[in-house]
Amino acid sequence: MSVHGGVLRLRTRGRGEITDLTEGVVSVVDASAVARGVATVFVTGSTAAVTTMEYEPGGVRDLTEALERLVPAEGDYAHNRLNHDTNAHAHMRAAIVGPSESIPIVGGRLALGTWQQIVLLDFDERERDRTVTVQVAS
Ligand code: ZN
Repeated sequence: MSVHGGVLRLRTRGRGEITDLTEGVVSVVDASAVARGVATVFVTGSTAAVTTMEYEPGGVRDLTEALERLVPAEGDYAHNRLNHDTNAHAHMRAAIVGPSESIPIVGGRLALGTWQQIVLLDFDERERDRTVTVQVAS
């Protein structure tokens, strides 16, 4: 197995901001020149997540509101009580969505649908500098 890789660095506004990573991941895959393999996209940190979605304003708003209903920012959370913290909801949303995706590469291209983008979700309560590691295995 050979592994190629790249790192995407970006600043987010936090608070559930959703950022389209597809172009950056495609550039790492193109540079790897791998025809058949798998790209893993992983964000470092326990208050951010990676998934795929149709990245358009309605979809972004719907996903944001669904996660808010599922894990409200306000609540009596043990993480906040025990650690004098306020971002328990961010940790839980990140754990539920998950920190990574693995996407097959077929014919040198990511096997994504036309309306399927790779996105970073940052749930923390402030601006963050994020590191997303992309590894291409073949
Ligand atoms: Zn915390």
